[in-house]
Amino acid sequence: MAEIKTIKTDVVVIGAGIAGLWLANILKNNGINFVLLETDAIGANQTINSQGMLHSGIKYALQGNVTGDMKAISDSEALHLWEQAFLDQSSIKLTENCKLIDHQYLWSNNQLTSKLANFFVSNLLKSKVEKVAPEHLPVPFINKHFNGSVYKLHETVLNLSVLLQELTAPIYQYCLQVNNINLELEVNNNKINKFFIDVNGERFLLNLELLQDKNVKFNFLAVLSILSIFDLENFIVWRDNGDFKIEFFKLNNPDCLDPQYVPLKFRERIWQTIKHLNLDPVIVETLTQPDDLVDLKLFEQYNYLTQYFERSNIDPAQVNNALFVEYWTWLGNFVQERFKR
Ligand SMILES: Cc1cc2nc3c(=O)[nH]c(=O)nc-3n(C[C@H](O)[C@H](O)[C@H](O)COP(=O)(O)OP(=O)(O)OC[C@H]3O[C@@H](n4cnc5c(N)ncnc54)[C@H](O)[C@@H]3O)c2cc1C
Repeated sequence: MAEIKTIKTDVVVIGAGIAGLWLANILKNNGINFVLLETDAIGANQTINSQGMLHSGIKYALQGNVTGDMKAISDSEALHLWEQAFLDQSSIKLTENCKLIDHQYLWSNNQLTSKLANFFVSNLLKSKVEKVAPEHLPVPFINKHFNGSVYKLHETVLNLSVLLQELTAPIYQYCLQVNNINLELEVNNNKINKFFIDVNGERFLLNLELLQDKNVKFNFLAVLSILSIFDLENFIVWRDNGDFKIEFFKLNNPDCLDPQYVPLKFRERIWQTIKHLNLDPVIVETLTQPDDLVDLKLFEQYNYLTQYFERSNIDPAQVNNALFVEYWTWLGNFVQERFKR
């Protein structure tokens, strides 16, 4: 058997999407040792496939009121972090070349409902949205057949390939392309003592002392998404066996993966299998909230997941979770039936 070499590093970052690249730049600028591991190419997954909009939350308010998702996004620190990166006020340094444009247009080919129109001009959104006067319409709308409304949203759209280049250049030498990754935890008395990552025959040892010395809170964060809720039972049993502290977050970007869009009849079945376990309120709320079906969101969800499965070479019919496979079949039939031309 080939000898396994041990390399000591402070941090292993897994995945060179926007999250991994951003973190890697912060680590480098703070003098912390790290390696960034990626199974595909840099940014190759969601990041390069995204539309690159720096959301301010407006897209999540198209019902004409403040939704939880809109509040979560507009209250989040993300926009502020981007601003600081462009203003040379953070350890992330980005130039204006990463911006494609500083606004986008939202239009409807019918007049917007008065509720939405009023909401757009309300104090809350005044600085973010502006109705475009007929004489200032962008060229595609200067057309006698267009009889709708056009709004200008002050939300920056990024040039993703430039962004990836600028984030990668400072840390390129710390990136490793890998085939697969095996994580191994050494747990004693419900405490993680050692954390190994085996990659391409190399063994990385995560230095937990560094986290303790620097008083970094060592937490597991778990995302509740359309994919993860189907495996909640196993995950919660694993958490309880190890007595790990885990915080749950609902995914709201992209919002179609928010598990609330799974119809209640499926969420109820998941609920029945886990309701006797020690559950976080976010899980309870997500699985038991009574609202059902937003057709368009299910359509988006189906398209998004289809692309995701294609990109990841996963056959959804072979996923090792009978309820998910049943849901996937149901979703495919629903989308066919509801949206067939
Ligand atoms: C079509 C589309 C449009 C979108 N539009 C927007 C938008 O306009 N605005 C917005 O804010 N968000 C948008 N999003 C969401 C946004 O793209 C994601 O939230 C963001 O890119 C996630 O970044 P990430 O680094 O977490 O994930 P990713 O970019 O997916 O990166 C994860 C990386 O990890 C790698 N990886 C996975 N498993 C392993 C492993 N075991 N070992 C090593 N590497 C691994 C993957 O290959 C990948 O490169 C959009 C997403 C899509 C798909």
